[in-house]
Amino acid sequence: MGSNLGDSRQLLMTAINNLSDVRAVSGVYETAPVGGPTQDAYLNLVVEISTSLEPYELLSVCQGLEQEARRVRAVRWGPRTLDVDILLYGELQLTDPDLTIPHPRMYERAFVLYPLAELAPELLPKGWEAPVADQVIERLGDWPL
Ligand code: AMP
Repeated sequence: MGSNLGDSRQLLMTAINNLSDVRAVSGVYETAPVGGPTQDAYLNLVVEISTSLEPYELLSVCQGLEQEARRVRAVRWGPRTLDVDILLYGELQLTDPDLTIPHPRMYERAFVLYPLAELAPELLPKGWEAPVADQVIERLGDWPL
């Protein structure tokens, strides 16, 4: 999850509270925006959940959380208050423009890898050369994010 507009901590907290079966939540990382127009730093975190939802159902839940936040920001803050992406879904691999899992850009993003390493340091998604913790070590020079 990421947020850089509005009361980001509150928005992230609300989104987490609206998820069922939360297993673990990483710390919050303040990160520089990647690409896009000049904008404020983001707050990012990673959440692990247990779910019986199918992947596309889970995507709908994520988009519902964004809509909830958007409702607030449409009134006061503009268009980018909450981003909720699915990074991994067990071992599943899915390639579809509407839903690609593992998330196609998670490999290159330190702001994903750092919080993910808190929850799953030994995770080695298919196609990766090294587990998440090692990816973080390689990116220590990126700190602060
Ligand atoms: P963004 O605005 O960057 O969050 O992108 C949202 C779009 O990415 C949506 O239309 C989703 O259908 C699509 N998408 C593809 N893969 C994923 C994923 N793993 N998690 C969330 N959205 C995804």
